[in-house]
Amino acid sequence: MASQTSLDAILSLSKRKGFVYQSSEIYGGLNGCWDFGPLGVELLRNIKDAWWKAMTYRTDIVGIDSSILMHPRVWEASGHLQQFSDPMIDNKTSKARHRADNLIEEYAARLRTKGKTDQANIVETALQAATSNEDLHAIIVTHAIPDPVSGTTDWTEVRNFNLMFKTYVGPVEDVSNTVYLRPETAQGIFVNFKNVMDSSRMKPPFGIAQIGKSFRNEINTKNFLFRTREFEQMEMQFFVKPGTEGEWFEYWRQARWDWYVNELGIHPTHMHRKPHEKLAHYAAAAEDIEYLFPFGWGEVEGIHSRTDFDLGKHQEFSGKKLEYVDTVSKDRYTPFVIETAIGATRTFLAVLCDAYAEEEVPTADGGVETRAVMRLKPSLAPVTAAVLPLVNKDGMPEAAESIMRNLQRSFRVEYDTSGAIGRRYRRQDEVGTPFCVTVDGQTTSDSTVTLRERDSMQQIRIHTDALTEEIRRRLDV
Ligand code: ATP
Repeated sequence: MASQTSLDAILSLSKRKGFVYQSSEIYGGLNGCWDFGPLGVELLRNIKDAWWKAMTYRTDIVGIDSSILMHPRVWEASGHLQQFSDPMIDNKTSKARHRADNLIEEYAARLRTKGKTDQANIVETALQAATSNEDLHAIIVTHAIPDPVSGTTDWTEVRNFNLMFKTYVGPVEDVSNTVYLRPETAQGIFVNFKNVMDSSRMKPPFGIAQIGKSFRNEINTKNFLFRTREFEQMEMQFFVKPGTEGEWFEYWRQARWDWYVNELGIHPTHMHRKPHEKLAHYAAAAEDIEYLFPFGWGEVEGIHSRTDFDLGKHQEFSGKKLEYVDTVSKDRYTPFVIETAIGATRTFLAVLCDAYAEEEVPTADGGVETRAVMRLKPSLAPVTAAVLPLVNKDGMPEAAESIMRNLQRSFRVEYDTSGAIGRRYRRQDEVGTPFCVTVDGQTTSDSTVTLRERDSMQQIRIHTDALTEEIRRRLDV
């Protein structure tokens, strides 16, 4: 299970098997950026497809794909220009830069591991009560929190650091041409609210879903895909009549929880809900879904009841009405919003951690061996089936190739002829392939093959004509 697995094991498997590589690795890598390899891109795509299906295969939600660069006024209206910042502190000796709140959290965690529980509690209570950069600075100074790099307490003041990446449109690098890489996909939805409502004849309650890249110039990236500077989000804004937001919030917090369990196959005991203690001034309710990563609990999704704050701000800044008008009752209102905001790449990490296991299994000669197995939900697996001719002669490769081509009409299939069959099974287990189809001497005479299932390792004999249907049936479970 995940939390018994170290993040290093996941990282090394990711690289070895082609799930994830460091960005620009041959140049020494670029911090906070990762590339998805041949298997990773399939798993990520399957997670995104599962979300897209859950969101848009219904009549009250439609999708969009808005541009990453947007009018700079969008970020003024949303508050990102003024407030989307983290508190940053520099150590004067090492020049290391830290997020001040993380520095304090990590210090408290170190105290706790050393058994200094009382002191850890005092630090954490002070952090919870902190409301300003000055408060954070005072905690760091009072507790003489050392820089993890230099060990000194030679700190600067705490300052705000805006997390948006800035660039310029056109050839002139001028303030008037400044644009930002979006730090979230949600604003693309808000500014298209009226377009979608008018062109798709939607009326509240209805939602708009979007999957896309977001960028945050995080002060410290860490824990592999958990906190990166470029990542992918899947966000849905659900527009409702004011007064009904409470029931819709309840609906979405349950629906989102169920999605992880039923569609991603995440073990429910590895997740918990965390209601926000400090609500934003415009928020009516907010809750995170957290996953138990190998490094501890971490948010994968936020479900937020945001009132009419976002549409209201865009009305104010754009001067355009963003209201719903009921043509019959003439009822007119700015809808309230329930948002579900999830990181696709962070969820990818949760799925990998949850699926990875090492277990003892019996060998053919009566011994035991350890196998690494990725127990991915079959519908998410990068490769659905591997076709394996037992030996590379006696008509088996030809029969296997024909079976592979047939299966490829419906699934992603791998073909592997190298090594003993047991080793080939292990290779597929490790990357989560749910089904292995073994072609042997009998296949050429009666067109039957062995179908092996990854988790139970059980095998059945099945006619090749029935193979596609059988795999499809098992994928639907
Ligand atoms: P955090 O507190 O972890 O910084 P957040 O509360 O700022 O996250 P939101 O703005 O609500 O996050 O974004 C929604 C989701 O986007 C998060 O739950 C997470 O899954 C994902 N996400 C946010 N920042 C990052 C990042 N730097 N790297 C990877 N995923 C991220």
